[in-house]
Amino acid sequence: KAGSTSRTMQESADAYTRAEKVIPGGVTANIKYFAPHPIFMKKAGGSTLYDADGNRYVDYLLSYGALIHGHGHPSIKEAVIRQMEEDGTTIYGTPHEREIEMAERLCSLYPGMDQVRYTNSGLEATLLALRVAKAYTGRPKIAKFEGHYHGGYDQVLWSINPDEQEAGEAADPQPVPESIGLPEYYQDHIIILPFNDLESTERILRRHADEISTLMMEPVQGGYIPATQAFMDGVRRLTKELGILLIMDEVKTGFRLSLGGAQQTYGITPDLTALGKVLGGGFPVGALGGAEEIMEVLNPKQGWDVMAGGSSNPTRALFHSGTYNGHPTVLAAGMATIDRLQQEAVMENMMNRTKKLRRQLEDVYKKMHIPMKTVGAGSIFNLMFTDGDIRNYRDLKQVDMDLRRRVDEELLQLGVYTKPMNRYSMSTVHSEEDIQFTVDAHEQALRKVKG
Ligand code: PMP
Repeated sequence: KAGSTSRTMQESADAYTRAEKVIPGGVTANIKYFAPHPIFMKKAGGSTLYDADGNRYVDYLLSYGALIHGHGHPSIKEAVIRQMEEDGTTIYGTPHEREIEMAERLCSLYPGMDQVRYTNSGLEATLLALRVAKAYTGRPKIAKFEGHYHGGYDQVLWSINPDEQEAGEAADPQPVPESIGLPEYYQDHIIILPFNDLESTERILRRHADEISTLMMEPVQGGYIPATQAFMDGVRRLTKELGILLIMDEVKTGFRLSLGGAQQTYGITPDLTALGKVLGGGFPVGALGGAEEIMEVLNPKQGWDVMAGGSSNPTRALFHSGTYNGHPTVLAAGMATIDRLQQEAVMENMMNRTKKLRRQLEDVYKKMHIPMKTVGAGSIFNLMFTDGDIRNYRDLKQVDMDLRRRVDEELLQLGVYTKPMNRYSMSTVHSEEDIQFTVDAHEQALRKVKG
C-alpha cells in the first residue's frame, strides 16, 4: 500500500542547506532543482530509491531513463568488476577489443549504423553529429524542431521551452534562446520547425534548403510525444530529396522503443544516429553511428600523415577526441545491459508492464473525473492532464500544469519518485507490486488534491 502523507524530510532539508553553500542552487544540473528543495538520495536497489531520511520510493526517474535494468543490477555490477579484474586496467587509452565488440553489436541492431564512434555523453554525440553533417555537406546551418532537446550546448539550446510570444506563429516558429550567455550568432545558424506538422516543415525546409546541412530530431519528443508514422516518413523523404542529412537523436529512445531504437520501430534509416543513456548501463556514455560514406569524414587516414604524427596534409579529417572515449568499464556495463535486454521476454515484459501501468493510471483518473491521458512510446510515457491531442510543443499549453505539480508533490510524500513534471521511465525490474503501489498512490494523491 502507498505510504503515509507525513514523511519527514529533515535530512534532505539539512543537506540542501549545506549544498547551497558550495554548489549553485545546491544542484549539479539545473533540472534537478525543485521547490522547496530537492530530495537527497542515499541508497538504491532495483526499482527502489531511499532518501537521506530513509523514506522509500518507487523510482520512475531512473536517472532520466538511463537505468533500464534499475539500480545496481547484479549482471551489470558483475560485468564491471569482471572487466576491472580480468583486464587489470580501468582504462587503456588505446584501442581495445571491447570497442569493436560493442560497435559490431550496434551496427547489427541499428539500421542507420555502419560505423560507430564513442563519446562520454549524449550531448557529445549530437555535437559530433552536427560537425560531421556540416563537414560532409559543406552547408552552414542546422534545423531542429521546437521543443526538442539535444544537450546543453550553444548550437542547439534554442526553442526547447520557449515563450510563445517570443516564438511566434506555431507554423513558423522563431529561434528563442533557452539560456542566458548564448552567442547571438548561433541564432542565424538555426532553423526551427514545427514537430508533427509536415506541411509547414516542408515549406520551411524548402525555403532554406541550400544552406541546411542537417535536420536533427528526437523521433519521440522529450521521450514521450511520438512522431506520427506519416510525419517520420515525410521527413525522411524530404531530407533525402533536399540533400539534408537526417540525424536521429536516439539518446532517449535507443533501446527503449525497441532494441534498434525508434529507427527500427518506424522503419526509417537515418543518416546519423546519436545514442547515450541506456547504452552505458548507468555509466557516462554516448555514441555516434552512421552510414559508412558519411562516417568516413572521421577517418584519420583521410587527411593526416599519421606515421609522421603531423598535420602536414592540408585536407584534414574531422577532429574528434576524448580521453575517456570507448571506456572499457563503461562498455562492459553497456554490453551487460544489452545482453540482458536480449534475453527472452525481458523487453516484452517491460513493455507489457508499461502498458498496464498506463492503462491503470488512466482508469484511476477517469474514476476520479479528472481529464488525463498518458502519452508515450515504448517504455517511456508521461501524464497529460488534458482531453486534447498532444502532438508537439504548442499542444502542451492545454495541460493543467498546476494540478500536475500538486499531484506530483503528493506522490513524493506517498513514495512514488518522479521529479515533478517529469516523464515516467520504466525498467525491466519494475514489478506488478510496483505498478499496484503506484496506481494506489495516484488515487490517494488525487483524493488529497481534490479535497
Ligand atoms: N539528446 C536527448 C534526446 C536527450 O534526452 C539528452 C539527455 N536528456 C541528450 C541528448 C543529452 O545527453 P547527456 O545528458 O548524456 O549529455
